[in-house]
Amino acid sequence: MTKKWDVIIVGGGLAGLVAANYLAKTDLSILVLEKGKKIGGRARTDCIRQQYLNLGPHALYKKGKAKLILEELDVELNGKSPKLGGILVEKNMEYTAPFTLLGIFSTSLLNWKERIEWARVLIKVILINTETLAQQTFEEWVQQTSDSEKVQSLFYLLGRLGTYCHASEKASAKIIVSHLKAVLSGVLYLDNGWQTIIDQLHNKAVISGVQIQTHKAIKQIDPIENDHFKLVLSNNEEFSGKYVLCTTAPHELNHMLGEKATLSQIDAFSKMTAVKGATIDVALTQLPNPKQLFAMGLTDPLYFSVHSSYARLSEDAKSAVLHVFRYYHPDEQIDGITVKNELEQFLEKMQPGWKNYVITSRFIPQINVNQRLPRIGDEQRLNRFKTEFPGLYIAGDWASLDSILSEGAVSSGKQAAEEIIKKEKS
Ligand SMILES: Cc1cc2nc3c(=O)[nH]c(=O)nc-3n(C[C@H](O)[C@H](O)[C@H](O)COP(=O)(O)OP(=O)(O)OC[C@H]3O[C@@H](n4cnc5c(N)ncnc54)[C@H](O)[C@@H]3O)c2cc1C
Repeated sequence: MTKKWDVIIVGGGLAGLVAANYLAKTDLSILVLEKGKKIGGRARTDCIRQQYLNLGPHALYKKGKAKLILEELDVELNGKSPKLGGILVEKNMEYTAPFTLLGIFSTSLLNWKERIEWARVLIKVILINTETLAQQTFEEWVQQTSDSEKVQSLFYLLGRLGTYCHASEKASAKIIVSHLKAVLSGVLYLDNGWQTIIDQLHNKAVISGVQIQTHKAIKQIDPIENDHFKLVLSNNEEFSGKYVLCTTAPHELNHMLGEKATLSQIDAFSKMTAVKGATIDVALTQLPNPKQLFAMGLTDPLYFSVHSSYARLSEDAKSAVLHVFRYYHPDEQIDGITVKNELEQFLEKMQPGWKNYVITSRFIPQINVNQRLPRIGDEQRLNRFKTEFPGLYIAGDWASLDSILSEGAVSSGKQAAEEIIKKEKS
């Protein structure tokens, strides 16, 4: 006889583990099934040669809802905030980044008129009610906000920094600007990486009775009669649950539902494209240029930051752990070799001779940073799904109506758990 679980959570990333922790406060029996050999998903940290490498650069919004929710679950978040400084690079020229008052006054990137304009629009961002931007793309909002090309470029850059989205003509202004507001309030680089969040969520869930199994790839979710679901794994093992919370990517959910997926859902989910990028994660014995800790391309979609200058990211806390990142446009043809060269050259510009100091380095040519590029109208698509399958819930960085990245993953995990608890009580 297959055991019937009250809740089966598909995926042991941030969303799944947050949901498991909230559900664990009830009497419901909870099973998390993760296809990987480890839990954590994209928030995991790999310890390689005693260096803690997140999967690309990871920064937690200091005033975001993910931090609040994690703290509500008693997750300790230790780390420091990077200074909002560094340089911007454009056509071999380097400029002080105008992200602080001092930066705005001292940068040679902007003339006086542009400095005043930039300061004015930054204040506007802080004060804006993002609900008023629901029907605009980020590009439309930027162009309407300032006529200055430099100021516009700075907004697109901040948009990339805060959301990883490099498609301002497609992305929803409401989501991008709300994340910009959060970025301007500061971020945290976490000691020992984001694995510390995963490990704490995992331990708390297990102590509260949640069962977590790895190496369990679900291939089919079958809504069957009497309000329950049959889950079939790739090895044909079967599990049965009253509620299913799916935290995989939207196209994977379509695939798992197979012919049970409705046409409108297939249509809505297959239109969702991921926010993608490439990363080089590096640990060096020392920095060739210790003063250069942060840089971005002004128009080239490139990022460089030394995370270990603020967070402890190696066993001996002596080495330098840094990330170099390339933001992708969704329509871009990706050539891994070219991108690797581009990232290495950018790093060479910031840290000349870095290759002489490498402890460990890895290049990931393509990774989904967020499973959904947030677009106008996504809210209706996501809401429609909720009504189609009673008992089947979604969470993950793509499933939140008003946020993306860890903000979306953590808040949708909490929300889905609360919806299940409410349904169970009704
Ligand atoms: C390079 C990079 C940089 C980032 N930087 C930031 C940042 O600075 N700030 C920020 O807030 N966020 C950042 N993020 C985003 C953040 O890491 C993710 O939004 C978050 O980790 C997503 O959590 P999730 O649970 O929604 O998805 P995931 O972490 O993807 O978890 C889903 C889990 O489901 C499992 N799964 C999938 N299919 C199946 C199946 N069929 N059966 C069983 N299990 C399955 C997967 O293996 C995975 O473990 C970044 C991400 C990347 C990749």
